[in-house]
Amino acid sequence: EETQYICAGCGVKVQTEDKMALGYAPPSALQRDVIICQRCFRLKHYNEVQDVSLTDDDFLKILHTLGQKRALIVKIVDVFDFNGSWLNGLHRFVGKNEVLLVANKVDLLPKSTNRNKLLNWLRKSASDLGLKPIDVKLMSAAKGESVLDIANSIDEYRKGKDVYIVGATNVGKSTFINRIIREFEGDEEQMITTSHFPGTTLDMIDIPLDDGQTLYDTPGIINHHQMAHYIDKKELKIITPKKEIKPIVHQLNEGQTLFFAGLARMDFAKGERTSFVSFFSNELKIHRTKIEKADELFSNHLGDLLSPPGTESVKDFPEMVKHTFRVKNNKVDLVYSGLGFVSINGSGLDVIAYAPKGVHVSIRESIM
Ligand code: GDP
Repeated sequence: EETQYICAGCGVKVQTEDKMALGYAPPSALQRDVIICQRCFRLKHYNEVQDVSLTDDDFLKILHTLGQKRALIVKIVDVFDFNGSWLNGLHRFVGKNEVLLVANKVDLLPKSTNRNKLLNWLRKSASDLGLKPIDVKLMSAAKGESVLDIANSIDEYRKGKDVYIVGATNVGKSTFINRIIREFEGDEEQMITTSHFPGTTLDMIDIPLDDGQTLYDTPGIINHHQMAHYIDKKELKIITPKKEIKPIVHQLNEGQTLFFAGLARMDFAKGERTSFVSFFSNELKIHRTKIEKADELFSNHLGDLLSPPGTESVKDFPEMVKHTFRVKNNKVDLVYSGLGFVSINGSGLDVIAYAPKGVHVSIRESIM
């Protein structure tokens, strides 16, 4: 029987199998006198937090805990995948606590984006989803844009209370926290530690605030709607935008189709000639064809001309599901969760979207 080691840093059971899972330590770490997990190791030696993912069950426990605290909750979402990163249900658990909503990765949107319009849209969408945040902020944690401004807002809105940072995995929570931690560097009095969530095996990072209160970084939950589940890591890099998105304009006639690599498709089924503006990773290829040829192109060229998915991922690629939309007389965005969106400026149009089964597709008032 194997010996079970416990991390001296956070108390989690140490395992050496799954690098992405909680409690991972490289086998060599077991030879040391004091055994700590990789996450605590990085925190201790590099002042850096790592993200861990968790189950829906554990996440519910965390939400439940938040409702019983008196705290400011800072909810981080990915501005490029708002619905996918939203964390449904949070508003039902926060109780009387105030929520500061932070939309990260704003650097991905074109510089010409109207920020006030975007903020209004975020406020309205939050409200439609049942949340009335105390404030809404735009941020680029990666570029450091507005990070300090948000840290100041947190200090103002918390009114002496603790702070919990929550967000789906991949929204940039660690990038944000790591920037804040760097602000503490050199301050010997301050000690960043980890502590347990009651009733779970999960730990959070505790950053001391100057009045004796604490900022807690909670583990993120996996976003189930994302494309990320259907393609491999290399392909994910292609579809994840890293730089400011260059919009691609297509003037389409009725009967034309766009393929977004092999991951999504949009048919312009009915309407006057219209402009469609695509906002996807700059490395993702868009193919235009006719609707009547689209099925054949897809079945013959998925995995090569239409790639990603590549030759490997194509083997267990899910079936495409059809979503039908009617655009009346406002500018809308057709959103493929975790992939991108198409801004449509026209009226009385019929548009048919296809996406892999499980990937969310929706229409929203345009943010552009
Ligand atoms: P977490 O899972 O929420 O902790 O997210 P991470 O901080 O690990 O970030 C997830 C991915 O998003 C990484 O590839 C980051 O480089 C990237 N990322 C984080 N913040 C930003 C940002 O402000 N802009 C952009 N473009 N990417 C970001």
